[in-house]
Amino acid sequence: MNIAHGIRNHGKPFFSLEFFPPKDVAQWPEFEQTVTRLKVLDPLYASVTYGAGGATQDNTLAITGRIQALGIETMAHVTCVGATRARIDAFLRELGSVGVHNVLALRGDPPRGQALDLHLSDFRHAIDLVRFVRQNYPGMGVAVAGYPAPHPESPSFREDRAHTLAKVRAGADFVVTQLFFDVREYFDLVERLRDKGVDVPIVPGVLPVQSLDSIRRLLAMCGANIPGKLYLALEEAHQRGGVQAVREMGLTFAVEQMRQLIDGGAPGIHLYTLNKADMCLQIAEASRAFMRG
Ligand code: FAD
Repeated sequence: MNIAHGIRNHGKPFFSLEFFPPKDVAQWPEFEQTVTRLKVLDPLYASVTYGAGGATQDNTLAITGRIQALGIETMAHVTCVGATRARIDAFLRELGSVGVHNVLALRGDPPRGQALDLHLSDFRHAIDLVRFVRQNYPGMGVAVAGYPAPHPESPSFREDRAHTLAKVRAGADFVVTQLFFDVREYFDLVERLRDKGVDVPIVPGVLPVQSLDSIRRLLAMCGANIPGKLYLALEEAHQRGGVQAVREMGLTFAVEQMRQLIDGGAPGIHLYTLNKADMCLQIAEASRAFMRG
């Protein structure tokens, strides 16, 4: 299935689920149990992240194929920074052979501590990968990343939105957003792109906060904003009741955020699962009224 067509034809709010491939093969059976438990969310699709440094690309391929075989339409993330055309081509061909026909085309980041020398790379930006896939794999569905708060390297909102627009015009079928906590950032992104004539689905990425440590790590990595009020409330919860209190607050916040997104016209919710089933199941239960249409 072309996922973008699936989104357009679905007609009611949906969940999609993002997983990362466990590095250790010994963890795969447990991981598959997690995915199987999450099938009750009836996800429209799942997506599997891709290690920019090369460490987990084989795992992405294997795990993407395994989730597809579990009966969930699956999209592989593909990063192009530092990759040759031949390597990307081989990866895309292998995806086809395990039944995967959708990719999230990303630039990726250089390994920590290394600078990006774009001039040495076959691909400079995600848009180059979108063009490559479109040209060489015309039957493949292509999504791209969008940023409610601009990407950390962008000098302005305007420039960042313009690059997202260019990726769509180059042939992307839909957009999946970076995590965010302020729904106004998402609606602003949607409005700017719609004003420019973009009509592809723009799926908001929601991260349920599971602990202070994990949110600190993720925010440091991706450059998303967290409202000061929310951060202070999470810290206060942590002091009062530790990880459990933070989880409860994270769950309540995520469900309210999702409600506002769906009420405001978002087509569905892309859940950053962090490979943990319990929180996602609780969220699905608490959001049943507005997610089941
Ligand atoms: P691009 O679209 O190329 O943008 C990168 C920067 O360059 C932005 O500042 C943009 O505004 C600017 N830019 C874009 N085009 C041009 C141009 N033509 N000229 C000048 N500037 C330009 N990383 C991983 O390693 N593995 C993953 O699996 C992964 N999954 C992700 C999933 C989602 C939903 C998101 C939002 C991000 C994910 N990332 C992943 C992180 C992503 O790789 C980084 O955010 C990366 O820094 C940018 O990738 P991009 O595809 O947005 O790049």
